[in-house]
Amino acid sequence: ITRLVIHGYPAGSGIAIGRAHLIRRNTSEVPQISLAEGDIPAEATRFETAVKTTRKQLEHIRSNIPENAPTELGAFISLHLMLLTDATLSREPIDIIEQQQINAEWALKIQSERLAQQFDEIDDEYLRQRKQDMLQVVERIQKNLIGQSTELNLDGTLLDDIILIAHDLSAADTIHFKDQRIEGFATDMGGPTSHTAILGRSLNIPSVIGLGAARRLIREHEWVIVDGISGTLVIAPDELILAQYRQQQARYRSQQRALNKLKKTAAQTQDNEEIELLANIESSEDIKAVHQLGADGVGLLRSEFLFLNRDTPPSEDEQYQFYTDIIKKLKGKSLTIRTIDLGVDKNPRWFGSNSTPNAALNPALGLTGIRLSHAEPILFRTQLRAILRAAVHGKTKIMFPMIASLSELKQSLIHLDTAKKQLTERNEAYGSPDIGCMIEIPSAALTVSSLLKHADFISIGSNDLIQYTLSVDRNDDSVSYLYQPAHPAVLKLLAHIIRTANRLGKPVSLCGEMAGDPHFTRLLLGLGLRTFSMNTVNLLAIKDIILRSHSEQLENDIQRLMRNEDPDKSEALLKKLNAIAYSE
Ligand code: PEP
Ligand code: MG
Repeated sequence: ITRLVIHGYPAGSGIAIGRAHLIRRNTSEVPQISLAEGDIPAEATRFETAVKTTRKQLEHIRSNIPENAPTELGAFISLHLMLLTDATLSREPIDIIEQQQINAEWALKIQSERLAQQFDEIDDEYLRQRKQDMLQVVERIQKNLIGQSTELNLDGTLLDDIILIAHDLSAADTIHFKDQRIEGFATDMGGPTSHTAILGRSLNIPSVIGLGAARRLIREHEWVIVDGISGTLVIAPDELILAQYRQQQARYRSQQRALNKLKKTAAQTQDNEEIELLANIESSEDIKAVHQLGADGVGLLRSEFLFLNRDTPPSEDEQYQFYTDIIKKLKGKSLTIRTIDLGVDKNPRWFGSNSTPNAALNPALGLTGIRLSHAEPILFRTQLRAILRAAVHGKTKIMFPMIASLSELKQSLIHLDTAKKQLTERNEAYGSPDIGCMIEIPSAALTVSSLLKHADFISIGSNDLIQYTLSVDRNDDSVSYLYQPAHPAVLKLLAHIIRTANRLGKPVSLCGEMAGDPHFTRLLLGLGLRTFSMNTVNLLAIKDIILRSHSEQLENDIQRLMRNEDPDKSEALLKKLNAIAYSE
């Protein structure tokens, strides 16, 4: 029978079936599994084998000590061998396995904690210090038990059908992922619109995030199913479940093939409303997908990704090259560059620890987004100059993140003017990009008409708008059940923003995860949204829904949903909306 099913959040891209590869930061994070009676002898043998392997490794090291090594080295290795063969490490963990009916790693961990305590109580300084040696021996045995390195080391040593199970997914990890053959992944951390989820989606492999303590419950190499559609992780599936998932996987793949035929089809509703479908990207590598899927342009370049994973911020010239490269690769399609949106979960290494936004009591309400850019004017204007210079190469727009009020927009425009003047003084050519702001804070949503008088366009950041409207941290999986995009309060704000922009004749797009979620396509069309900017993964699925929708009729059909003020009813009303069969 199937061992375990855990629920998290779907990060998309279908279903993967494969073997688990656990990414651990250190061996103190061991799996903790209760065993069936019958599995205990095998587990004891597994432990004995790991001890034997450890002994061979230590003996090998001792007989290969280099000439010039310090003389104590041999003595230390001998000490380790002695500790290893002592009953406290070679026998007592087996007793724990048998008595507590648990896996070897867990038993060894319990034993090493007991021993560590005993060492701490020893009076003799020298002997007390031997605790470190004991822990090193334990570490070796754990590594042999877990059977893998403790770091993300994927250079070609993996099997084909690998599913990564990690605590979290950082931007740095995804760079490793991009050139590996990984079937799927799952993480303990992350809410539905956390950056873990956004990065996950951009990898375009089946993924589930926010699983809580999943990693502790999975063994290296165990068969797992990642269901990125429903957000489920199945551990050690039985034959029946496996067969069902294989079927579902085949269905998903054939749906994808059908969608692929829509690449060149115009995104048009049945009453001939043209819908603009844009892509969210992080780097120039993502542009391949923009062309392949026939996106109309880029509606959100999250420029802060260029600022992460490095020791110093990029110079003006480096940024200029980066933006220019993207503009050229887009071959005439437009590019909207969002100025750096750092803070909260995106903290560059090169920030001093005092200015690190996470040092704030409440980072999401602290020095983030445009506030941080205003606090670091040199950094901000360097970026603005780089974008302005790059803008001579093609259609470019600039967008400011996390604007809360008109004064912040005005202040940003002053920085932009200064940047232009600096370029003029340097005799440097620059373009004249449209200027917009993101609407992702309720105060901006409610005062959007004044913002629109000073901006050429706006883009709704629904990820943050939902977080701030509902007071639910988008990165905290303990409250993510409260993160409801279709909450009536959110819908009222969306309706107000879109209606106001349409009335004033200014372009409005939505670039949060809602834009790429097929659940919300009809709702957004009904609200009058005509530009969607999304992760390209779902672009064709969204187009498919647009083709099957009638924008004018939708304006009426969303009315019940818009009148509803009970969040518990939203889901059912949305479902009804999505089930309507429109015809020309
Ligand atoms: C948003 O908040 O919806 C958005 C698009 O920006 P980010 O997800 O990068 O905060
Ligand atoms: Mg945002």
